[in-house]
Amino acid sequence: MAELLKKLADLEKLSAPLEPNQDERAHYFQQVKNWSDHYIANIDKIDSFYDKLPDTSKLSIDEKQHSIEELLDIYHTEVTETGIVPSHGGHIGYIPGGGIYLSAIADYIADVSNEYAGMFYGGPGAVTIENELINWMKGVFRFPESAVGNLTSGGSIANLIALTAARDFHGVKNEKVTSSVIYLSEQVHHCTQKALRIIGLEDAIIRYIPLDEKWRMDATILEQTIKQDKAEGLYPFVVLASAGTTDTGAIDPLKAIGKIAQQHNLWYHIDGAYGGFFILTDRAKDEFEGIEMADSLCIDPHKGLFLPYGLGAVLIKNKEALFHSHHYTANYMQDALNEDWPLNPADVSPELTKHFRGLRMWLPLKVHGLAPFKACLEEKLYLTDYFREELVKRGFKVGPEPDLSVSYFWFPVTENENQNQNENENQNESESEFNERLMDEIHKDGRIFLSSTRLNGKYVIRMAILSFRTKKHTIDTCLEMIDRCLERVRN
Ligand SMILES: *Cc1c(COP(=O)(O)O)cnc(C)c1O
Repeated sequence: MAELLKKLADLEKLSAPLEPNQDERAHYFQQVKNWSDHYIANIDKIDSFYDKLPDTSKLSIDEKQHSIEELLDIYHTEVTETGIVPSHGGHIGYIPGGGIYLSAIADYIADVSNEYAGMFYGGPGAVTIENELINWMKGVFRFPESAVGNLTSGGSIANLIALTAARDFHGVKNEKVTSSVIYLSEQVHHCTQKALRIIGLEDAIIRYIPLDEKWRMDATILEQTIKQDKAEGLYPFVVLASAGTTDTGAIDPLKAIGKIAQQHNLWYHIDGAYGGFFILTDRAKDEFEGIEMADSLCIDPHKGLFLPYGLGAVLIKNKEALFHSHHYTANYMQDALNEDWPLNPADVSPELTKHFRGLRMWLPLKVHGLAPFKACLEEKLYLTDYFREELVKRGFKVGPEPDLSVSYFWFPVTENENQNQNENENQNESESEFNERLMDEIHKDGRIFLSSTRLNGKYVIRMAILSFRTKKHTIDTCLEMIDRCLERVRN
């Protein structure tokens, strides 16, 4: 017994650092506060892209003790000063979000209290917060009260959950898979194809529906294709529309697709990961007509509500379809089960224990109210206009007017008169090459980060304006940078 007591006393002492005392906590906190104040104060002065890789040896786990000061220094140079700076307003390449400060505070609170947001029984307060956020989004997207939803880690998992429900609703399994048809647009986000593989639908038939000149799914061709597939004895079961494509910012004709889905008994999924929250703006809200017809919807607060990475959401009308794969009980969970309690997040997601991620959305919405979010989204739409107009003034060609805040542009190389087909292709190639070199220069400059894509084989430079920190001055810096890079490529 004495030996056991001594062992426990020793271990208690050795493990004590895991509960820092108040002075130690104050010290950590002060260091982190200094670092974050400095980081935010300088965010406009640093580059938004560092063409540099981290020194792995500084980041590997050596099982030794280090001071918080040393680690913050390492974090600064090896993490924040490598690659893209996602919190920078100059990140207008891939779809950004920024990461608002109050979410960081909320994460801190969520982590200190470590509230459990998997089951109502364990964390009724935390789960209520998450359910209230789902309810709010149901209202925003005009989903019925009976719809359910989940806060996921991001849009990919939200789409995965929705497609699983679609699969289960239609009982697509076994030999039915190879005759079941999924309708997508070429511009669909690639997490969709990943999700289909994960959920065992790799061998289902995928029809890519052609797009119109604004990169929107052609609803007429969709309907024709469905009819043809039915006539051939196939089983059309799901159509996926985008409310804001990642590459071109296009919103598919949501209402027309919704009607077709209804008529042909297809599960209608809408991916609004990038664009969904623009429904809050006066300018773009009408574009979302028909979103309420969806059976399931994916939205990404870590994009459209400017939250730091780690929060997506899915809304689903048919609870039973969602429960089929995700609701499961185990003996050790018996205390946690009660039919009368509100929805358990764990019953509508592959996750059981998870980060209490709802707080990072709840706190900023409660502190700021909705108005600044709306204004910031509206600002992004007008900044997109401004950027495009300034590019045109400089001789750039721009893509069709986007529905939202993603667009693309390229610099035309001098055109010959009376080209034949061959010359046209060469022309395209040299134009692509020129713009590729321009992109390289832009990445070398690093002040503002843009990305590129290929549309119909043509290389174009892409802008995605969504960070809450992107302002008019950011676009002005970007234009100045583009002017300079263009000079360099031309000489
Ligand atoms: C970003 C995006 C996704 C994937 O979401 P993650 O949050 O990155 O997992 C899916 N669809 C669209 C349209 C997106 O823009």
